[in-house]
Amino acid sequence: MIARVSLEIALRKEFDYLIPAELTGQIDVGSRVQVPFGARKILGVVTAVAEESGRANLKPILKVIGAQTLVTPKVLKLARWIGEYYCCAPEIALKSVLPEAVRKEDAGWRERLFVRALSVSGEFPKLPKRQQEVWNLVEERRELPLAELLTLTKTTAATVRKLEDRGLVSITSEVSERDPYARETILATQPILVNPAQTTALEKIKGAMDGKDEGRRMNDEKAATKTTDSGSASSFILHNSTFLLHGVTGSGKTEIYLQAIAHALEQGKGAIVLVPEIALTPQTVERFKARFSSEKLQTLVAVLHSHLSAGERHDEWHKIRQGRARIVIGARSAIFAPVEPLGLIIVDEEHEQTYKQEEAPRYHARDVAIMRGQMENAVVVLGSATPSMESFYNCKRGKFTLLELPDRVDDQKMPYVRVVDMRQAAEKGPPLFSPQLKEAIHQRLERGEQTILFLNRRGYSTSLLCPKCGYVAQCPNCSVSLTYHRTEQKLSCHICGHNEKVPSVCPEPKCKNPAIRFAGTGTQKVEEVLAKLFPKARIKRMDADTMKRKDDYRRVLGDFRAGKIDILVGTQMIAKGLHFPNVTLVGIIYADSALHQPDFRAGERTFQLLTQVAGRAGRGDVEGEVFVQAFTPFHPAIQYARRHDFNGFYEQEIEFREQLKYPPVSRVALLTLKGRNEEKVKFSADHLKRELEKKLKGLKDLIIAGPAPAPLLRAENFYRYQIMLRTRAMSALSRELSQIIQSLKLPEDVSLAVDIDPVSLS
Ligand code: ADP
Ligand code: ZN
Repeated sequence: MIARVSLEIALRKEFDYLIPAELTGQIDVGSRVQVPFGARKILGVVTAVAEESGRANLKPILKVIGAQTLVTPKVLKLARWIGEYYCCAPEIALKSVLPEAVRKEDAGWRERLFVRALSVSGEFPKLPKRQQEVWNLVEERRELPLAELLTLTKTTAATVRKLEDRGLVSITSEVSERDPYARETILATQPILVNPAQTTALEKIKGAMDGKDEGRRMNDEKAATKTTDSGSASSFILHNSTFLLHGVTGSGKTEIYLQAIAHALEQGKGAIVLVPEIALTPQTVERFKARFSSEKLQTLVAVLHSHLSAGERHDEWHKIRQGRARIVIGARSAIFAPVEPLGLIIVDEEHEQTYKQEEAPRYHARDVAIMRGQMENAVVVLGSATPSMESFYNCKRGKFTLLELPDRVDDQKMPYVRVVDMRQAAEKGPPLFSPQLKEAIHQRLERGEQTILFLNRRGYSTSLLCPKCGYVAQCPNCSVSLTYHRTEQKLSCHICGHNEKVPSVCPEPKCKNPAIRFAGTGTQKVEEVLAKLFPKARIKRMDADTMKRKDDYRRVLGDFRAGKIDILVGTQMIAKGLHFPNVTLVGIIYADSALHQPDFRAGERTFQLLTQVAGRAGRGDVEGEVFVQAFTPFHPAIQYARRHDFNGFYEQEIEFREQLKYPPVSRVALLTLKGRNEEKVKFSADHLKRELEKKLKGLKDLIIAGPAPAPLLRAENFYRYQIMLRTRAMSALSRELSQIIQSLKLPEDVSLAVDIDPVSLS
């Protein structure tokens, strides 16, 4: 027998190997194997097994990794699609479907040695004192870990081995599973009686799940009886699967997810729940664990995210593969979890950018979810308070089914949003707090209520400049200005991490002006000014600078929940998914800062961000209030967010996208050329453009724009030029691009990255 293997090196080619006699029966499609390649040993995945190969002199497979096949045929198929659609080598796509800890098996299962007392037949031997003491303890406990025994009896393993030699005890190695949530006590919860809007949504989702189930059964029967009629089974398959659940924060979306998952379990199927990494708080995980930790459908909930240790990730993944955990909750890559059979995929906060992987394979987990749902006949539910333009457009065109939850549960009102025009306040120098916001914070402190203040820039000042000669402190490696960090007294680059000392005079040799000044505001400054305004308030800052250790995030949120903090200042980190009933005020320091990004999605992002941040206010009994400070108060993104009007925002935004043929009206492929020599990069970009024009003539609606310098021209000493392609038929374009890239000749020090459906243009 031979096996075809896809190696972990991007050769875009598979190789045949012999299955040696001693490994027969252990190798199947999806097995991870180690094979010889030249002088090296390389890991790979078996993609096919056959009787014989067209090639001679095959080398044998060296070893198999894992007792089970690691890549299920269904996930293998998904990986192939990713390779094709996202224009990357199939090996790279395949590599990304297994967590590193599973691929390498370095972490493996944690094994521990256990000592067990055996039953003694005949006369009990006379033991030396040490051995007798050890035996006494083992006999009393019957069984205990070796390590514990050694500590308790203050002896060495050699003594225990002697007991083993006498046939008194056995020492065996056993797997002890790591559970990242072992320290939590989780109280079981019951399904909530859902309200009418939730009922309608849930019925539709369950109906689709039943339809899929029926369709699959009919397909199975058809396959079994081999009838040739094109019966109605296929119409079930074609039935649109994907739902978009549009509901404001607090409208009860999660409750719908929980009950839909319960339905999948009733059907004997599993579910995958994707949430953005940042929303994977213990709070979120606990809600899912709590619902499924008891009752008749009881199942393990596996959790996959980047804060787990390699060992924990290994164990969580295998719990899924073994079918012991049928519900997976995780970040982006959890979409590849080997749940089988899969009944339901949920993508919460589907508009989040973090679902896009920013390195090859540059897949979008939401889109992969939709594809996987189609391939495996599973229902997909996308949820958001601020759906992406893409998903809402798909609803309008009938590709997705829209489900709406317009109100908060228990009739809580949406917070009242006030937009503060900062242009007037700015006359006396750039202000941080308008009188209105200051007064509102003051009131909250008096009443013992909590406040969240949001600004999407960390550091103290966002630039250092000389008003005399116009000098701006720039990163030597990137085309961005340096941010001043006051506590550390340094200027630092947020792209490459470069740090330097703060100059005392303008560094321009001809200038040397001592009156250089800082401009722009970051969270550090907000915190400092706030402390001066409200000396008694307990203030905490939450951004990448203060949240360095694994537990910081959890600790600060715990303190906030416990009422030990009055005002929480932070970046994106505090914008999402947090639920604090005592927060009645949210202040957005500068709402426009996200608007002026060179990206066609700047308006959409701003709308989403404002809506998400505002959603943090008034989640308890007291109505919430939001202050949005802005220099362009009448911008549609700000005005529609103020009125909580998603539909209004969508209608005006889609018009702009239509005009310029931007997504979701078309799809984008972004080609970025990168190298240390700007001239070479530019030259290569021109060359590529000519190739594209020549070879893509056949594609009708294609628009080729560029080459142009990337918005961030220079990053970490690399110059970057971009070409943007827009088309409605992306699959066709991807296929062509793969060909072009493979035959393209670039200078050695210039590289090309292809990003299909990019979420960021920088
Ligand atoms: P979302 O996911 O849309 O933010 P959640 O599902 O988290 O909303 O619901 C918000 C809160 O309301 C939760 O505490 C949840 O348990 C509760 N809840 C959900 N549905 C109902 C309902 N029908 N009746 C009462 N409370 C509900
Ligand atoms: Zn830099």
